[in-house]
Amino acid sequence: MTKHSKIRKIIHMDLDAFFCAVEELEQENLKEKPFAVGGKPDERGVVSSCSYAARRFGVHSAMPMSQALKLCPELVIISPRHALYQKKSEQVMSILQNYSALIEQVSIDEAFLDVSDMSEDGDKIAQTIKNQIRSETNLSASFGIAQNKLLAKLANDVGKKRYREKNYPGSILLVVNGREAEFLAPLSVDMLWGVGKKTKLILMEMGIKTIGDLTKTPLNLLIQKFGKNGALLSQYANGIDDRPLEVNQDLKSISQEMTFSKDIMDRDVIRLELMEMSEMIGHRLRAHKVFASTIRLKIRYADFSTYTRQVHLSHPVDQDTIIFDTGLKLFNEFWDQRSKIRLIGLSATQLVEGFEQLSFWQNEADRERLLLNAVDKLKEKYGKNIVKKATKLDHKKEK
Ligand SMILES: [Mg+2]
Repeated sequence: MTKHSKIRKIIHMDLDAFFCAVEELEQENLKEKPFAVGGKPDERGVVSSCSYAARRFGVHSAMPMSQALKLCPELVIISPRHALYQKKSEQVMSILQNYSALIEQVSIDEAFLDVSDMSEDGDKIAQTIKNQIRSETNLSASFGIAQNKLLAKLANDVGKKRYREKNYPGSILLVVNGREAEFLAPLSVDMLWGVGKKTKLILMEMGIKTIGDLTKTPLNLLIQKFGKNGALLSQYANGIDDRPLEVNQDLKSISQEMTFSKDIMDRDVIRLELMEMSEMIGHRLRAHKVFASTIRLKIRYADFSTYTRQVHLSHPVDQDTIIFDTGLKLFNEFWDQRSKIRLIGLSATQLVEGFEQLSFWQNEADRERLLLNAVDKLKEKYGKNIVKKATKLDHKKEK
């Protein structure tokens, strides 16, 4: 359905009634009550988020609070606490980062992930992420999975509606490749991006109610009615959306990861892998003349659950051995020695530029930096395998 020869795997994640869900965690007495987060009715406040119990009364977000109170007189009104929501949101977004480096955060509670590189089925990945969000933050999230952003978002909207009767939907809906047309056809046209009230009205007058109807409408008629948007409308109705994810560029880090061909429990293999990754990371840090303040370890187990552990260093570093020692320490502390490991990753984050100019040979760290710079130059000149550190050679001999 897309021009790409490789079919993408895009997940859309949306936290369920996010602000309300956070408030429910903070205030036990709100549980399952109809309540809304937003401005006061006498100050022309609007509903930012409402609980599912409130939704049953017809309350929805963006509605004036005064109207919401008319629909549901017992509605409890909570003033928003944005700093709290922001903190929770960051926690969730960092869980998502365990699963893909390609993340487009759309809003405080919504993001796209490109997981095309993972071999597992999209709905299985979503289930794993959902469980992890639940266990680490106590929040409920819903997921739509498809081959592009448009379809993934629609899948999530449809999935959430289907499970509305529950307190939180926590739904997962996958649009199977090749069955996009079947999925789209019965949906109301206003579920499509770009179809607002005005467009919907015109479409209704044309007798177009569903996305299926829209696909049967001649393209030139749509262009005649809506101009350029008419072409886009037709494209979306046919499930075509080639837009890439707009990845947030200021999440800067240098990382390396390794997926094993079969799940392993061999500490020596992990150790070697971490050493190799540390060298690559150190080399790239020095090449960019930056230092890392945080070292992060990532472990994915055989069941795809993925965890990260990190250490904030007292001094930013660019030396392989410190990166390695830190990574290994994190690994030894975290791994339970029983779970099989599928992937291991190491990253250097919170990068700072040349933070201080040290005099040469000032201490052990500087001596190592000088040595490493010399090693980097040799590698650049003769290829990266010319120099191997003694510890690594020794280790390989042991095996
Ligand atoms: Mg949401």
